[in-house]
Amino acid sequence: MNPATSRIRLVLADQLNPRHPWFTDTPQPDTVYFLAEMRQETDYVRHHLQKVVAFFAALEHFAHWLRNNGHRVEYRTLDHPDSALSLPDMLQSVAQTFGAEHIEYLEPDEYRVDQQLRSAFGPPSDTTCHFFYDRGALERHFAGKKQYLMESFYRKARVDHGVLLDPAGKPLGGKWNYDADNRKRLPAEHRPPPPCSTLTDATPWVERIRRHGVTTVGEIDAQHFAWPTTPEAAQSTLDYFVEHLLPHFGSYQDHLGPQDAFYYHSRLSFSLNCKHLHPSDVVRAVEAAHRTQPDRIGLAQAEGFIRQILGWREYVRGIYWARMPEYKTLNALNHTAPLPAWFWTGETRMACARHAVQQTLQHAYAHHIQRLMVLGNLALLLGTHPDEVDTWYLGVFVDALEWVELPNARGMSQFADGGIVGTKPYVSSGQYLKKQGHYCGTCWYSVDQKTGPKACPLNALYWDFHARHRAKLEPLPRIGYAYPTWDKMDPNHRLALLEQAAVWHAQRDTL
Ligand code: FAD
Ligand code: SF4
Repeated sequence: MNPATSRIRLVLADQLNPRHPWFTDTPQPDTVYFLAEMRQETDYVRHHLQKVVAFFAALEHFAHWLRNNGHRVEYRTLDHPDSALSLPDMLQSVAQTFGAEHIEYLEPDEYRVDQQLRSAFGPPSDTTCHFFYDRGALERHFAGKKQYLMESFYRKARVDHGVLLDPAGKPLGGKWNYDADNRKRLPAEHRPPPPCSTLTDATPWVERIRRHGVTTVGEIDAQHFAWPTTPEAAQSTLDYFVEHLLPHFGSYQDHLGPQDAFYYHSRLSFSLNCKHLHPSDVVRAVEAAHRTQPDRIGLAQAEGFIRQILGWREYVRGIYWARMPEYKTLNALNHTAPLPAWFWTGETRMACARHAVQQTLQHAYAHHIQRLMVLGNLALLLGTHPDEVDTWYLGVFVDALEWVELPNARGMSQFADGGIVGTKPYVSSGQYLKKQGHYCGTCWYSVDQKTGPKACPLNALYWDFHARHRAKLEPLPRIGYAYPTWDKMDPNHRLALLEQAAVWHAQRDTL
């Protein structure tokens, strides 16, 4: 017979940190850990099938690991009759089943879940120590300031955590930032190493998800599932990255091209976001690799990577908790258009966008510059409503969770926050993509043409965007030469660009 149960402890699918004190303490016979596949989580947006599989598989492995370590565990799949209940109702029902008086949960990372649990059960019983900083650190750092500059927060983080500093506490190598060294284009014939292989058979999860009629997008090779779903597989992915990919990560992190989906990117975002890996372990591994092998792993490579995790990742989390729930409603440019249909199919003649969507459907992954400068750029230039943009970004990527998706998609990529994350909109004409990648040579459109049916759509849309939003954008300090260039153009050419852009807007679904 089971011993009396006094408490149920909820473990969410993005709280799978095997080193949290909850799990490392001696197992308590009166405590039951509760983990569940839930319809409320499969259904709040339409997710990529691989994303649902990755979280479910990671959850199930974690439940087994807890049990093997002597903890009492209640693990439920979608087959359980309660799987469609809301999370609070499900927890009440579990507590009743076990006769438990207390329900405990860890501070959630999603505002939606935080509110739901808080209103049902009061504040969380414990924090999580899953990040470098607590939720409020960014707001405290920028108290009284209008702008939250990432670079300022990043420098503080380097000092606070003693990362890439010399013995005098100054930045290693004399500079905080090697961003200028991070923009190289790979030669067209270059083939990066294959991604780390941690393949598993995901058939049971795929069958269950399909049997329960969960609506998903994207493809899967169930027998060769490529995302790491255990802490050990996550560690192997990190080790592989440091050994094989880090030596070129920084140089080519902005490269765009059709040869590969991953290039020198780490594929660590899922493991970080489900908490199999702690960001500090990732940062320390990369710093150690640079310090022990500086000739092989240059400072620009290590710094370029560390900035993403110690800088951007912590920064966007801070923005999220400083600005929710209003942040989710911001639409500074008053954009109202629907998301172009090809975002869901990849059926577009634009080679850059086709590859980004197709590889997203195939792998539940696109790298940062594809998300920002190809897809985000097109959504923004086409005046898409940020809610539609969020729904897509929150669904299609294996790593998508609202605390990181929202400031990146709505803020950085759509400028819907009016300049909290980015000081100006991330927009470009076809010229940026021509310089940064290898798509334009094979594209149906011609990158150097500005108007006409074969002209690259980004060219006219870029100017149309600036013209439409002149009142809001021109006063921005870093807007650069866009308006002086526009004003110097022949008025007939300006008119032709605006007319061409109107054609692209009308054809947005069939570009
Ligand atoms: P790498 O290129 O190898 O980078 C290493 C790590 O740095 C990533 O794993 C990630 O943890 C971190 N990182 C890099 N850039 C960012 C950033 N801007 N914000 C936060 N962390 C960052 N990342 C997510 O984890 N979830 C999302 O839902 C998400 N949505 C995004 C939406 C848009 C529009 C944009 C522009 C970026 C988004 N990102 C998101 C950030 C980034 O694109 C992904 O973290 C990265 O592509 C994941 O691949 P990787 O692990 O190979 O990353
Ligand atoms: Fe993309 Fe334009 Fe280049 Fe085609 S021509 S790949 S649409 S930037």
